[in-house]
Amino acid sequence: MPYSSDRLLSLVQDDHTDEVIDLENRIAGRALRGTDRAFEELIRRILGSWTRAFGGPDQAALPGGMLRQILATAQAAVRRLLGDIADHAPGALTDGLGPALAMGVRQGGEFVRVASGRRRRAPEVPVVGRVLRAEARRLRDMVTERRDRALFLLHPDRVHRWSQMLAGLGAARAAVPAVRAHIAWVINTAVHEGLDAVVRATAPLRVWVSEADACVRCLAYTGRMVAVDEPFPGGLSWDPRQRAGRAAGVDGPPLHSHCRCRAVPWDDAWTTEGVPFPLALRREAHRSIAYGRARPSESRAARLRAVRELLRTEPDLLPAVDARARSALQAGRFPAAA
Ligand SMILES: [Zn+2]
Repeated sequence: MPYSSDRLLSLVQDDHTDEVIDLENRIAGRALRGTDRAFEELIRRILGSWTRAFGGPDQAALPGGMLRQILATAQAAVRRLLGDIADHAPGALTDGLGPALAMGVRQGGEFVRVASGRRRRAPEVPVVGRVLRAEARRLRDMVTERRDRALFLLHPDRVHRWSQMLAGLGAARAAVPAVRAHIAWVINTAVHEGLDAVVRATAPLRVWVSEADACVRCLAYTGRMVAVDEPFPGGLSWDPRQRAGRAAGVDGPPLHSHCRCRAVPWDDAWTTEGVPFPLALRREAHRSIAYGRARPSESRAARLRAVRELLRTEPDLLPAVDARARSALQAGRFPAAA
């Protein structure tokens, strides 16, 4: 029985992506062990000491023993907190690589079953390779570099004002989102390795499925198909200014950090009810451009350039999407989401 493209899209964008995010969160939890809250607590504690010593955050520090003592406390805490992450994060991520590969194989199999209506023998889960292991180990260096930068800033020669103290503590704390981002990147890469094993075993093509709020670069890939083991074209974007001519091909998602797109197996012989899946994906991308569903990191100008490009290159937009795109371009902005 053929399934609708909406069902396939929701399987990838909702069910499968949520599972990956859960895995990322479990690993990040083990890697970071509540460090984010510990940093908040530390900053509050140091601010308390600063206020007692100098009168408040708007008061400059007086050089001397008091300042040196506060800085020594801050340095020791940074050493301890980031040392803890450096010790635990690489192992936590390494332990997650096998489950991520297995997840990719299982999710790929599930997708093929729903899309083709047939059950197939699952390929073997690939072994965890050297590259993924090295990426997991790299977490230690990433954290250590940030620790050293923070300790450099938290030096009596460089801290006279509270803002400078905060800059040092902030540099240390920035290790937390950096570790999260790296875990997400590596886990998504591993899931894709599992998914690719399914592609090779079951389908002649891969099709790019972007995440629900993808950027203008990823949306240019949405619905694109390539033959197995062939890269996607490099440098695509709906925003002409973000295009890279002559860019090397890309193997697949993740295209950038925090990218949760997927490339899934595809065979044009698999029939979906209603609109074929790759076309449904492209229409979804057109809608996203026309409605200006930007990520927080994207500028309105970039999204408007994408709308202009959409109208220029896609003569057969659905009427509602076309109207929406034209009115956004005319107004120079997107109406607030209803
Ligand atoms: Zn993406």
